[in-house]
Amino acid sequence: MSYILPDLPYARDAFGDILSAETFEYHHGKHHQTYVTKTNELIDADASLSGAALSEVIRVAHEGGQTSLFNNAAQLWNHSFYWQCLSPDVQQPSGTLKDMIDQSFGSFDAMKTALHKEAVDHFASGWAWLVLDKGSLKILSLHDADTPVAHAVQPLLTIDVWEHAHYIDYHNARPDYVRNLLDRAINWEFVAQNLDGKGVGRADQ
Ligand code: FE
Repeated sequence: MSYILPDLPYARDAFGDILSAETFEYHHGKHHQTYVTKTNELIDADASLSGAALSEVIRVAHEGGQTSLFNNAAQLWNHSFYWQCLSPDVQQPSGTLKDMIDQSFGSFDAMKTALHKEAVDHFASGWAWLVLDKGSLKILSLHDADTPVAHAVQPLLTIDVWEHAHYIDYHNARPDYVRNLLDRAINWEFVAQNLDGKGVGRADQ
């Protein structure tokens, strides 16, 4: 069994000037594809994980210190999750998610401000996350390929803050990229779905 590059859940040009078709062409078509290819090569070279779920590969590689396998498998999962966190239609959180955001952060705007700060202040490459930690909403960021899959928190939402995520459309202006995503391109329905604690499975294969 080989891992595959999941299709984008929208057209490459669906986001207009927020994220260009060229960004998706490189970010999904080249960067994400490379993580798929490298994960498959590393699994082919070590039959012990042949046929394992991607999430299992990530956990085993993390525990066993298999850095290259962890980095590629985690990036394969992280990107598969990230695409689903984006929506070309502007959405707002509602229902239980909205209530939890208000309770944890005071308001939706305050939560977006905190997540924006986490994403912008994160040094170098990584991912900003909204996670469920023992039933509570929490904002954190992880370095390079690191992923909630390897930790005891459930992923709800992520923003890729590697330079390759924004360089074509925003050059070095990471704050503008994060602001545009948070205000105009987050799939809050997907985030709300992940409150069931099954977010890992939604990008697994
Ligand atoms: Fe990326």
